[in-house]
Amino acid sequence: MPGVRIKKDDTVMVIGGKDRGKTGRVVNVVPRDGKVMVEGVARQHKHTKPTAKNRKGGIILKEQFVDLSNVQLVCKSCGRPSRIGHIGEGVEKVRVCKRCGAEL
Ligand SMILES: [Zn+2]
Repeated sequence: MPGVRIKKDDTVMVIGGKDRGKTGRVVNVVPRDGKVMVEGVARQHKHTKPTAKNRKGGIILKEQFVDLSNVQLVCKSCGRPSRIGHIGEGVEKVRVCKRCGAEL
């Protein structure tokens, strides 16, 4: 995975898999695995057993990780899922929307 372009709190659109077309806020990124967790995307029911914390157990909704390759950053400026480019180097490096040229 050449450079992770998605960060926590970014808004992304899912471009593959069964949740395609959904958008959500990134809540977790695991660059090493190329995985991202997006609010409201890839939610699955999990059956939990009663624990000390959760005495009743039951079913909870929990987001699952999805592949970074299945999401695309939504540009804050043009509001569309966009390819992202970089300009500058090192700490000066910024992400730019390839569609409208806005810095992200
Ligand atoms: Zn844009």
